[in-house]
Amino acid sequence: MIYIIEFTFFLIFEANLKLKNMNIEFMRTAIEEGRKGMIANEGGPFGAVVVKDGKVIGRGHNQVLLLNDPTAHAEVMAIRDACKKLSDFQLADCELYTSCEPCPMCLGAIYWARPSAVYYACNRADAAAIKFDDNFIYEQVSKELAFRSIPFHEILRNEALELFRQWVNKTDKTPY
Ligand SMILES: [Zn+2]
Repeated sequence: MIYIIEFTFFLIFEANLKLKNMNIEFMRTAIEEGRKGMIANEGGPFGAVVVKDGKVIGRGHNQVLLLNDPTAHAEVMAIRDACKKLSDFQLADCELYTSCEPCPMCLGAIYWARPSAVYYACNRADAAAIKFDDNFIYEQVSKELAFRSIPFHEILRNEALELFRQWVNKTDKTPY
């Protein structure tokens, strides 16, 4: 019991420690990024910045309309910008500030990029209220394939598995 209490205190301490690094000015920068993109009609009202060692090293806003790219979300753009600056495919020791809780696509991108923390301002319910229904995709993710609104069909698995075998045996690969 005492261990559980101690562990809980440890987790709260850890969480506070993480929040201590948080700087609300970075969130304001992320929100302003979103405003800039929205006013320029580049996309929806979403902005994000990536911070490392107390400096903004990547920024992005939604550019879905400008680029005709449904994946050009603020977080993805900020991650791409930061990775380019770092010449790295990972965001180790970086923090992401985003004006809205990430959609499932950006959540995936964040997990692949592996920043140390994410701060968000509006939440998914706020986004749904202005017709950006990320929550619908979150619900789809947890459904069985057969019950998703977009059908997924498995074909040519064996041929694709051969590609995986080649990857496993590839001697000059960079694992990530
Ligand atoms: Zn997104």
